[in-house]
Amino acid sequence: MEIAIIAHDGKKAEMVQFLLEHKPILIGKNIQLVSTGTTGKKAEKAGFNVTRFLSGPIGGDAQIAARVAEGKTKMVFFFRDPLAKHPHEPDISMLMRLCDVHNVPLATNPATAELLVKSLFV
Ligand code: PGA
Repeated sequence: MEIAIIAHDGKKAEMVQFLLEHKPILIGKNIQLVSTGTTGKKAEKAGFNVTRFLSGPIGGDAQIAARVAEGKTKMVFFFRDPLAKHPHEPDISMLMRLCDVHNVPLATNPATAELLVKSLFV
């Protein structure tokens, strides 16, 4: 199962913390992590294998949105920073829209991501 992880700068520390808290599940052999560039680098430093795409502002969110549309990415953890402005807002909206179009679970904060991770046990 392919899971995408993306975190805006103000949320990257929370993402790493979240990943570490759920490491035993997320390094499971049935899970492949994909990410935007900088988020992926942080995850790799924390010991995860990640397929990294471009950094979000230069197209990484759009690449992951395409994977959602193609049916490759099955779950998205996208820790957005609602207090910051983002030059790539159109790409962010596109990613969220495509998750809704294709009924792909999308967690935009750690509390929701926690619930989704728990669902992986079932
Ligand atoms: P980043 O991209 O992981 O390359 O920082 C995330 C984003 O801003 O969408």
